[in-house]
Amino acid sequence: MTSKTRPSAPAISHPCESFREGEWIIYHCTRCNYQMRENMNSGEIIVQNARADIRHFGTYFPIGFKEAFNNQN
Ligand SMILES: [Zn+2]
Repeated sequence: MTSKTRPSAPAISHPCESFREGEWIIYHCTRCNYQMRENMNSGEIIVQNARADIRHFGTYFPIGFKEAFNNQN
């Protein structure tokens, strides 16, 4: 029998897609309606539909960054 003490951190993680819209970088969850906007100039962050039991993570990759991984030979 196992007894684990879990921290209060959310157990669920959702990956987010990100894209750029003007001066905003937008992180959009593919599994729920979570969305975070980050303004590149002012640093302002707007979060919508955040849930306390779900942790969201995402990284913004500029267009063209993916090409580097395909350059294997
Ligand atoms: Zn989500």
